This record gives sequence, C-alpha cells and structure tokens, in this order.
Amino acid sequence: MKKGKRNSSKGLFAKGSASRKITFGILAVILVVAYLSSNSFRDEVDELLGIGDTPKESIVVPRAQGDLLVHFIDVGQGDSILIQFPGGENMLIDAGDNDKGQIVVDYLQGQGVQRIDHLVGTHPHADHIGGLDDVIKEFDIGDVYMPKVSHTSKTYMDVLEAVDEKGLTINAASAGMSIPSKEANIDILAPDSELESKNLNDYSIVIRLVYGETKFLFQGDAEKKTEEELLLSGANVKADVLKLGHHGSSTSNIEEYIKAVDPDYAVAPLGEDNKYGHPHKEVVELLDNMGIVFYRTDKDGTVIVVSDGENISVNP
Ligand SMILES: [Zn+2]
Repeated sequence: MKKGKRNSSKGLFAKGSASRKITFGILAVILVVAYLSSNSFRDEVDELLGIGDTPKESIVVPRAQGDLLVHFIDVGQGDSILIQFPGGENMLIDAGDNDKGQIVVDYLQGQGVQRIDHLVGTHPHADHIGGLDDVIKEFDIGDVYMPKVSHTSKTYMDVLEAVDEKGLTINAASAGMSIPSKEANIDILAPDSELESKNLNDYSIVIRLVYGETKFLFQGDAEKKTEEELLLSGANVKADVLKLGHHGSSTSNIEEYIKAVDPDYAVAPLGEDNKYGHPHKEVVELLDNMGIVFYRTDKDGTVIVVSDGENISVNP
C-alpha cells in the first residue's frame, strides 16, 4: 500500500510535470489563436491581401458636393429608405420588420449617420415600423411623423415606448403638411386628416420630395383608394423616381396614377420569393409598357439613387 502510494505520488509528480508542459502548450496555442482571430490581426491581413472584411452595407457611398442620396435599403419584404441631404440632414422613412432593425442601424452607421432629422413611420404595419424602435434607441432623433391611427400590435407599442423613452413626440401626418427642411421641399400628400378606414395601408404617409429640379414620390403601402383620391384632388404627384405602392402590388399602382406620376424610375422593396407574389405581374408589365426602369431590392439589393438637383443616376 505504502509503496503503491509512493509510486502513485511519484507518478503524480511526473504526470504533473508533463501536464504543466501541456498546460503551457495549450496556453500558447490559445494566445496564438486569440491573436490570429483578433480584429487588428484580421484587419492587417485583409489590408495586406487588399480584401477588407467590411460588409457591403458599411461601404460609404461617395458623393459629390450638392448630391442628394436616396438609399432603398434591402430589408427583404419591408420598406426602409434613407435620404441624405447634401448639407448633412438625414431622413429615414420606415425601418423594415422587427428582425431588420439592426440591419438598418448598421447600414445608417456605415453611412456615417448620427442624427436622423426627420423620421417617418408610414403606417403601423410591422414590415414598415418593426425596426423603428431599434433606430430610435440608437440615434439622435429630430422630428417624428406617423399617421393618426392606432394599432394594438406589440410592434406598434414598442415604437410608442421608444418614442416616449426618448422624450419625443409624434407629429400626426396628414395631407397639406410639410416636413421642414432647409435643403428640399418635402410635402405630405396623404393620408387625408378625415380618413376613416379599416385598411391600415390607406393611412400610409405619401411624401413628395423636390430637390432642385428632381422629384421623388414615396408612398408606403398606399393603395388604389389613395391613388384615386390623389388624382381627384388634383395633387401634384409628378416624380422622376416613384417608390411603388405596397411592394408593387396590383392593389396599388393603377395605370392612371402611374401616368400622372410619369416616373423614369420605379423602385420596389421586396423579399425574395415573398408569399404575396409581389411585385404583381400586371404592375411589372405596366412599367415595362411605359418604359419605366424598374429596380427591386430582391434582385438588385440596396438601390441607391443620386440626384445633383438636375440629373438622377441609379447605383452609380
Ligand atoms: Zn409593406
């Protein structure tokens, strides 16, 4: 027994010596792995190889002085549009669905955005306002616009909570209002302040932005009803770039309306193989027949439109 103990104790010692060597070995490996996987090391390697690991979203779009940039951010089936004015103002229309908030935050930060001067939630559907709470928490926010219609969804409540926690107030957007900007004319064409509808899409804030001689029309998920009312009211809907209503659905984008807008470019934010079949083929055919160039985020990814106040270029 004693002998055995001694032996085992001797054995332990010997093993201890070996295990110490193994421990040092493991430690060294861990340190090397930690260094190799550290950001600074990866950056060094990437720099040497000339392949930054910067995701596409973080690449700052170069812009000339006087350029206005409109980014139709690829958030799958949902809207999120960042407008960067040449003087430094930023505007965000919608922020995609709940699980896309961080994508929008990352994208904006990648573009150097720190403050959103004008924040718009077009209507309370999740694919438009879902990510707004993340955006509100992350950035310095100026004025906030939403239609005057309440909704009981958790998504909507989350937005209200974020607004409240930031000490912000919501401007109830309605036709005839303008969003005060030093750099462009931003008019709200819809919804009508008297509107009563069971369809939340009818409350979509429709915005016409005029920068120099170039014009943009953003209409959330506004449908045929809104389009017909705008035509009847005689509102000026003319635009060079149209953000199609309701993801290119045939419940929006009626021919008379598209004729009145008379855009050169149409953009639809879309999820790949989305369950709604957006964009509907009637709309795609209509755009095609009218010679309107159609961009869609499911195929083109994030679409960036640049205006110098006179000319427009897309994904330059
Ligand atoms: Zn939508």
